[in-house]
Amino acid sequence: MKIHEYQAKTLLKEYGVPINKGILAENSDDISSAVKSLSPPYVIKAQIHSGGRGKAGGVKIANTPGEAISISNDLLGKTLITKQTGPQGRIVKKLLITECVDINKEYYISIALDPGKSCIAFVASGAGGIEIEETAAKSPDSIISKNIDIKIGVRDYFLRNIASKLEIKDVSGFIRIGRGMYDLFLQKDCSMVEINPLVETTDGELIALDAKVTFDDNALFRHPDVAELCDINEIDPKEAEAQKYSLNYVALDGSVGCMVNGAGLAMATMDIINAFGGKPANFLDVGGNTTGDSVAEAFKILLSDSKVKVIFVNIFGGIVKCDIIANGIVNAIKSYKSSCEMVDVPIVVRLVGNNSKEGNEILNESGLNIISKTLMADAAKACVLLSQESLE
Ligand code: ADP
Ligand code: MG
Repeated sequence: MKIHEYQAKTLLKEYGVPINKGILAENSDDISSAVKSLSPPYVIKAQIHSGGRGKAGGVKIANTPGEAISISNDLLGKTLITKQTGPQGRIVKKLLITECVDINKEYYISIALDPGKSCIAFVASGAGGIEIEETAAKSPDSIISKNIDIKIGVRDYFLRNIASKLEIKDVSGFIRIGRGMYDLFLQKDCSMVEINPLVETTDGELIALDAKVTFDDNALFRHPDVAELCDINEIDPKEAEAQKYSLNYVALDGSVGCMVNGAGLAMATMDIINAFGGKPANFLDVGGNTTGDSVAEAFKILLSDSKVKVIFVNIFGGIVKCDIIANGIVNAIKSYKSSCEMVDVPIVVRLVGNNSKEGNEILNESGLNIISKTLMADAAKACVLLSQESLE
């Protein structure tokens, strides 16, 4: 789960990390009162779940209160397109109005999981302010990455060593920040805690100017306070709907809607669609212990996506029985039909495994326009063909 910069900075502050003064604004009244209670010059920052806001015009400097108010009102409601948002961009619904800081130097520091080494890593660089991926591509030698031994944790010597490599003067300040980040990472089950940039001010102070904190979704049940920080506006509405029914759904750009059980089969399905020249519209794993209801919900989510030109249902009946899936599909289409006239999206179904015979019979007798295939390759080929025909 992602959160906004202002929420990440509030959390970091609770863990002893110094941040600059800032106030959240969601409308023009908020803007006026925020500007009044801060001192110029100001930095106005769009709060969207994306990095690279600076380059996209989402971080602006204002020298006077009047300028701050007019820039803020302009930015609120604007669509911001960054490297991470995709071409559709994100509408700015919240602003963080902050005080400007006189920067001497910018650093990058983060604590994140290193899946390759199955451990937590502390990553730092003297090239702060720019995205770490860019630094990794241009000057990989400037990146310091040190594994953290979970049994030892982050000790002073560990952070002192990094501070010395970065030539940081306020070593004790850096140690406090590093320890705070690590405590936050562990206590709140984060998958990443990133400060970029951590700045040294002209007065020699270390301050977190921008922060990104992400959490392990599977651990959210242990942190109701964190779960509350979720901003539903920042999530694809289809993904939000899927979450309600415990469906693993990720929206993608293609035109073949996929409904699959099991993450491995879901990935194989996406691969085979690509192999035949098509593009999946989503990743959707309905899971092992699927009920007819969750299948129906999954189907409705696919049907509500205008990009979807064909639906590929690829089910291996292991724990789940194919007849349950077939009934779920038929019910979903029938209820959708009654509410929205016609379902004209072709549906290709491959049901194999437990009760596949019964499942296929239910589909055949439903009177619906469903193309049934036994081989995954045949089904994928049919889907790609149908998705391309619909484009012509
Ligand atoms: P993003 O990473 O989304 O582009 P940042 O908050 O990191 O947004 O801002 C980009 C750059 O803007 C920073 O690297 C820093 O140079 C500058 N900046 C951000 N906030 C301030 C501030 N309060 N005072 C001075 N400069 C700032
Ligand atoms: Mg940044």
